[in-house]
Amino acid sequence: MTAADQPLFNLCGGHPALDFVNSLDDRCGAGEPRERLTDYGALLRFALESQLLDARRARSLAQVAPAAAERAVRAARELREALAAVLYARVEQRSPPAAALRTLERHLHRAGQHRELRWERRTRGGALSWDRGRFEARAELPVWLLAQSAGELLMSETMERVRACDADTCRWLFLDTSRNHTRRWCDMKVCGNRMKARRFQARQEA
Ligand SMILES: [Zn+2]
Repeated sequence: MTAADQPLFNLCGGHPALDFVNSLDDRCGAGEPRERLTDYGALLRFALESQLLDARRARSLAQVAPAAAERAVRAARELREALAAVLYARVEQRSPPAAALRTLERHLHRAGQHRELRWERRTRGGALSWDRGRFEARAELPVWLLAQSAGELLMSETMERVRACDADTCRWLFLDTSRNHTRRWCDMKVCGNRMKARRFQARQEA
């Protein structure tokens, strides 16, 4: 396995929209947050690793004009921050800020506009479905796919399972799919062990 094959993103959130929000790391820490969505290449990698894009499509999108790529990254970050505002509000049982809702709405509209109706012939008649069709080669494709995926999550019952990591320096979002809905950490290997160690230390010092 080469470095290029190693995943760039930690997808422990369990849903592309949640992992996407987590791509601004340390957003709740005392210092500056760390941007993982550094450029268009990183955005494509995220969409690829989240299985929103296939490798062939990601390779061809890597060739888009730099200005279009830059616009797409800006749009992606804007979508992500609106999404973060809405999701954290939900987790903390507050109403989301109106501005974040309007931004999210705009992104959902754009995602909806950039698809086409496809008629698929079947043995008995045919069926209509939505397809990215002629918009597949546009730089914003990963942004639209992320908006669509986020919209589906936000309006589903799965929202009941969205949690933020209990480690107050982390607060990464994840989908709690544990049987008893008692998952507390984004990643047991990272935050779970860290918090256990901290508690153990606190007990020793008490
Ligand atoms: Zn965590």
